[in-house]
Amino acid sequence: MKTALVTGAAGFLGSHLAVRLLAQGYQVIGIDNLSTGTKLNLSGLNGQERFRFLECNIAETDCLNLGELAGADEIYHLASAASPKFYQQFPFETIQANTTGTWNMLELARRAGAKLVYTSTSEAYGDPTVHPQPEEYRGNVNTWGPRACYDESKRLGEVYCYEYAHRYQVPVKVARIFNTYSAGLRNDDGRVISNFVYQAIRGDDITVYGDGLQTRSFCYVDDTVRALMLMMDRDQASGEIINVGNPVEYTVLDVAKLVQRLAGSTSAIVFRLLPQDDPKVRRPVIDKARRLLGWEPEVGLEGGLRKTIAACRRLLAQGGLP
Ligand code: UDP
Repeated sequence: MKTALVTGAAGFLGSHLAVRLLAQGYQVIGIDNLSTGTKLNLSGLNGQERFRFLECNIAETDCLNLGELAGADEIYHLASAASPKFYQQFPFETIQANTTGTWNMLELARRAGAKLVYTSTSEAYGDPTVHPQPEEYRGNVNTWGPRACYDESKRLGEVYCYEYAHRYQVPVKVARIFNTYSAGLRNDDGRVISNFVYQAIRGDDITVYGDGLQTRSFCYVDDTVRALMLMMDRDQASGEIINVGNPVEYTVLDVAKLVQRLAGSTSAIVFRLLPQDDPKVRRPVIDKARRLLGWEPEVGLEGGLRKTIAACRRLLAQGGLP
């Protein structure tokens, strides 16, 4: 039985990934410091025989010294705040998780002889001047602004991965993840899909920032998790950076209208100030994922939103909001 270590296991992506790994027969060790992850995300995992949860901060070396981690075959390093709302609230912790935390996990991978998937981000491209974004594009990132703590620390995390791949031949794979969603996002996450869906089903105003003509490309969580597991599995992904996202692009205003329609909502669409440094466009080129992983997304935005809206309605009715 293989052992997978998932950092950020109490987070949105990490908890979904842990569920899939358990379903495939893995022994899973989940690590989280519960800064932005939630106990609720762990509720389906805790109590499962092959799941063990460790509350610790991967940026602290104590975490690295936990003996049982040495038995890991695969390390998925997902731990980091990812919503602009939270990483701007916790800039130093975010930087630490992506830099020292990544270094620690790479060192663990080297010592344990494990493979490692690092979850980087489409934010590595900043406010892109090349559209859509292939992996070779080097980005347009502001070091002097509210998004820098996330964007630049994720980029530095990639640099650590490069060094471990080249100096120590650790089988490292880097996923640049584009906007991912499902009902598992925290209702107070602040990101566009969770905001719009909860606003629409509660009958609150749907808040579009700016004129809403900025674009994003949204990937359903199941597709993203499948890509991460394929990356871990495929040797040809070693030492590679691969975009993971849905290449179908929408304006934020169109997403607001789509959510409003699919939820049958009476909410009004209102316009609010655009946050500083908000990227104007974002859409992945996924040729590399197709070629190296045989992967492409299966869930379109409309289908994914229908599932998300239905699940959020159930959660609201049960009073158990993520
Ligand atoms: N956005 C919006 N209304 C909201 C939340 C976000 O119009 O209530 C916009 C935001 O300004 C950005 C896009 O939606 O242009 C995606 O934002 P999100 O925070 O989800 O993720 P990002 O891709 O910016 O990291």
